[in-house]
Amino acid sequence: MAHHPAQHENFRRRVPEGDNRERLVCDDCGLIHYDNPKIVVGAVVTYDGRFLLCRRAIQPRKGYWTLPAGFLEEHETTEDGARREAYEEATADIRIEQLLAVYNVPRISQVQLIYKAHLGEPSFSPGTESLDVRLFAWAEIPWDELAFPSVHWALNQFREIDGKGPFSPFTNPAGELGNMPPKA
Ligand SMILES: [Zn+2]
Repeated sequence: MAHHPAQHENFRRRVPEGDNRERLVCDDCGLIHYDNPKIVVGAVVTYDGRFLLCRRAIQPRKGYWTLPAGFLEEHETTEDGARREAYEEATADIRIEQLLAVYNVPRISQVQLIYKAHLGEPSFSPGTESLDVRLFAWAEIPWDELAFPSVHWALNQFREIDGKGPFSPFTNPAGELGNMPPKA
């Protein structure tokens, strides 16, 4: 025991005793490396009825528009993560209102928590992971150039509850698992 994780050099894929799935197990000390789903946090951010979208400067889906969102860091709360991502990608100081949706994308082992939020002030600019950041009126949203299915879901679900008082968080639209549309 007492290997530092970086010192486990002899990982092998096998089913550990008492388990029912293959895992990476260190042959020297028995340490099991668990790969578990990643948590993505983000927000539908509005200001004056318009929607903050970021044009991705990085793969995947470089050049497509997305909500400010990204992977939760260790030791970070989901709300702090959503605020941090909005700052990193859009230099935006967002005010979180409540949880809008929890999405499952099992193909890539992701769980996404998307908040409803607004900008305190109309101040934003592209961070290093964005080519551009803009506020879009609903009718101006570039639907054909959105990066991921969950961006569509979140914008449409936001639209359903906008201005209508309390609501319960959404999940995936019926039958949708977030698989990417075929490449054009
Ligand atoms: Zn080891």
